[in-house]
Amino acid sequence: MDRMSLIGGLEEIVGSSNVLHSPMDMTLYGYDASLGRGMPDVVVLPGSTEEVAGVVALAHGEKVPIIARGSGTNLSGGTIPIRGGIVVHLSRMNRILEIDIPNRTVTVEPGVITLDLQGRLLKEGFTYAPDPASQKVSTIGGNVGENSGGPHCLKYGVTTNHVLGAEVVLHDGSIVCLGGKSQDNPGYDLLGLLVGSEGTLGVVTKMILRILRTPEAVKTMLAIYDSIEDAGNTVSAIIAEGIIPATLEMMDHVVMRAVEESVHAGYPLDAAAVLIIELDGLRDGMERQAGRIREICKANGVREIQVARDDKERARLWAGRKGAFGAMSRLRPSYMVCDGTVPRTRLPEVLNKVLEVGEKYDLVIGNVFHAGDGNLHPLILFDERDEKELAAANAASSEILKICAEAGGTISGEHGIGIEKLEEMSLIFSEADFDAMRRVKHALDPRDILNPGKVIPAAPS
Ligand SMILES: Cc1cc2nc3c(=O)[nH]c(=O)nc-3n(C[C@H](O)[C@H](O)[C@H](O)COP(=O)(O)OP(=O)(O)OC[C@H]3O[C@@H](n4cnc5c(N)ncnc54)[C@H](O)[C@@H]3O)c2cc1C
Repeated sequence: MDRMSLIGGLEEIVGSSNVLHSPMDMTLYGYDASLGRGMPDVVVLPGSTEEVAGVVALAHGEKVPIIARGSGTNLSGGTIPIRGGIVVHLSRMNRILEIDIPNRTVTVEPGVITLDLQGRLLKEGFTYAPDPASQKVSTIGGNVGENSGGPHCLKYGVTTNHVLGAEVVLHDGSIVCLGGKSQDNPGYDLLGLLVGSEGTLGVVTKMILRILRTPEAVKTMLAIYDSIEDAGNTVSAIIAEGIIPATLEMMDHVVMRAVEESVHAGYPLDAAAVLIIELDGLRDGMERQAGRIREICKANGVREIQVARDDKERARLWAGRKGAFGAMSRLRPSYMVCDGTVPRTRLPEVLNKVLEVGEKYDLVIGNVFHAGDGNLHPLILFDERDEKELAAANAASSEILKICAEAGGTISGEHGIGIEKLEEMSLIFSEADFDAMRRVKHALDPRDILNPGKVIPAAPS
């Protein structure tokens, strides 16, 4: 089928106002928050599951790639149309369909913005725990696609721990429902397989999510350190004590400086690192736990601990963390976010090695990350228009992921594989592992139309 016939076929399914095909639109949908670039043939904005199914069935018949897209904020090239095809932008499917308090679930369409869901649930005294720092923009469909994490995932778990059910359009346009509101589901855990599959196994059109009561009390502290090792050691010591804070985030001096120039969160410019430690839960016992954390911080060389006295101060401390990526992006034309995970006891050692990588390649690298999970996010600053700098940034990123893998960690904590980390997959998986993954993909998408070329490296020829 030629491009114009494809566009005509899609217009019949979703209406001509919901099909984009101008050169400018194709350019706009050719990138995401990664450094990758591609070009779709056409973009559709379906308004219902049936329309998604119609689009996928047409693509299946014509063997045209389908790339599901939420807000395109993923950092690994997951929505880059590397082989052209149809971008299915799910932004029109943005309804919260049901809030079921007795069963503690919410049912949503994929285009719901994560923070909008949080805001709606807050009115009922409930919350949806996964809170990626991009939540102002990211969609629940994209969060499910990437199995996203966030500051609160240390205590509450990542997206997969909160998805109870999903309606999914499969490769040929058939519609299946996985999981549901009941607590246990027999049969294969296809829902587990789907979450984090980056749009390579199906297009999610509805999700049933777990919701939790908002905590009775919250206490937020900023622990300030003169050495990054001391901050890293504090993280392991708190968890070893049996305390699981709601969040345990770390920022180094490079990031704090950038934040202060943009957000003015009041971070100390002469410190080496800060930890944002937040406790939540019952008011009873919280002060005792905070006291124990203060002792642990002191035993690990903390310089000062600030405690937020009210919501305004708490919001100020968080504004810096949440605006950190944006603040860093003001310093150079481009930044690359590495996303590796290490056992938290190895954090100080690995952070030092990241510093050495920056020196080796003459690149500024800032660190802002989910320290409690051992999930590092070294932000490499560079100018992608300068070929030498681009090559250095790519090499530095690869080396950092290798360091993470060698420290007993892995090459992604939450940002997925997409196209950017295909090469590094072999640091943690064998050819036999890849073969098993390829067989799963082939069983669920035999014509290889669902986000082809992502997540699993191509088979050796
Ligand atoms: C400043 C910044 C901060 C960030 N902070 C975090 C963070 O703290 N934690 C974190 O985990 N990530 C973070 N991210 C990465 C990103 O925001 C997340 O991966 C997010 O979940 C992507 O959502 P999205 O709607 O933009 O999805 P997209 O980027 O549009 O899509 C992501 C993937 O999901 C697939 N997909 C999208 N919708 C569907 C669907 N309906 N069905 C099937 N597949 C689908 C896509 O094909 C793609 O592979 C950050 C990104 C930025 C730019």
